[in-house]
Amino acid sequence: MSKSTQRFEVIVIGGGIAGSSTAFHLAGHGRSVALLERGEIASEASGVNAGGIGALGWGNEPDLESYLTMGSLQIFKGMQLDLGYDIEFRQSGGLQVIQTPQQYDYARDRVIGLKSRGYTAELLSPDEARAIEPGLNPEILGAMYFPLRGQADPVKATRAFADAARQRGADVMTGKDVTNVSVASEGGWLVECSGETLQAHHLVLAAGAWCGPLGEMLGLRIPVIPVRGQMWATEPLPPRVFHSLSGVESYSHWSAEPGGDAANPPELTHIGDRRVTRHLYGRQTRDGEIIFGGDREMVGYDRSVDMGGIENNFAHTAEVLPLLNDLSISRTWSGLMPFSLDGKPIIGKLPHLENLYIASGLASSGFGRGPMAGKLVADYIHTGHRHHALAESAPARCVAPL
Ligand SMILES: Cc1cc2nc3c(=O)[nH]c(=O)nc-3n(C[C@H](O)[C@H](O)[C@H](O)COP(=O)(O)OP(=O)(O)OC[C@H]3O[C@@H](n4cnc5c(N)ncnc54)[C@H](O)[C@@H]3O)c2cc1C
Repeated sequence: MSKSTQRFEVIVIGGGIAGSSTAFHLAGHGRSVALLERGEIASEASGVNAGGIGALGWGNEPDLESYLTMGSLQIFKGMQLDLGYDIEFRQSGGLQVIQTPQQYDYARDRVIGLKSRGYTAELLSPDEARAIEPGLNPEILGAMYFPLRGQADPVKATRAFADAARQRGADVMTGKDVTNVSVASEGGWLVECSGETLQAHHLVLAAGAWCGPLGEMLGLRIPVIPVRGQMWATEPLPPRVFHSLSGVESYSHWSAEPGGDAANPPELTHIGDRRVTRHLYGRQTRDGEIIFGGDREMVGYDRSVDMGGIENNFAHTAEVLPLLNDLSISRTWSGLMPFSLDGKPIIGKLPHLENLYIASGLASSGFGRGPMAGKLVADYIHTGHRHHALAESAPARCVAPL
């Protein structure tokens, strides 16, 4: 090791929302931290997502999901309102649209169940839904309303975390591809990236869908599976869509048939190349584009856009928002989401090795959950104590030596 090796207390690998938030919170604790990203900050899933922030309230007995969503909501608000970053955050509320009687039964039971556990949700009639979202199809059967839901620009938000981390003293390094990780002879970690070797006492893996390959460098099997999500956008137009919107169809399907096994995560839209349901989410951005997506497909690390899936999703969205019948798709894109095999996040201390942590498995809702995932890991490292909610996401349940 050369004398010029840079040393830090903590190295975080991955400049998405999870890693950037981890670095931001560690730097806030006064820790010396390096954030290593092989591309630009927010160059993968955290920069290409729909920007939806899910939140249903704390509930009577807050669980991991309550902490991740409500904690993240609070952190997003703080980033914009207290630290002054314009991340286009807006607590718009969300509507999940009901299209069939079977979906209505599912939605009614879901709202009753959520309310009985202290969460915030309402079942709206078609007129109630259209009174707050006038563009909805008059033929819908109603909507679930989640008033706490929000939205923000994914690139601006993720970069705000990295910038705020830098302001607090973190070393944010882009263009640093981590190619090897090993235990240092005097303890701690040696991280090789783009011709340099860095050293740290603690290491955090926040590499999204690439946690598997990083695990292999460490001799660990980390079951994070890349799942492709894809989206489309219209040209910018004046404000027409005011909430974040989604469909009940997929949730109703997954409640009956979640899917998933030892090799496939649950709650995908496709099994192999066969579509099993239509998933739908989106919003109108501040610059006026209507953006929607939904497919969740296991295609390895293939990021090419499947136009068949895009057209299916556009047609589904037009059923919900008929104004789309007069519009067309102006651009499409895709990204890789980090799914775990049991559908739960993988956040906490990795087994078998010392001072090694992970914040991943955030799946299809990691933008809205990443800020708190990063805070929980940062607090764990700083205090040495695991937050009780992290029992649910403990890596030991699924990570094993190769
Ligand atoms: C199309 C789409 C729509 C979505 N919509 C939503 C939504 O509306 N709401 C929501 O909450 N979530 C949404 N998601 C999911 C969300 O984007 C992800 O769960 C979240 O961004 C994951 O964040 P991350 O930090 O774990 O991973 P990433 O953002 O993928 O970040 C990981 C980073 O690690 C870097 N990296 C990997 N390997 C290395 C290495 N060896 N060396 C250095 N750097 C490395 C990568 O370059 C990457 O930048 C969507 C995802 C997609 C793809």
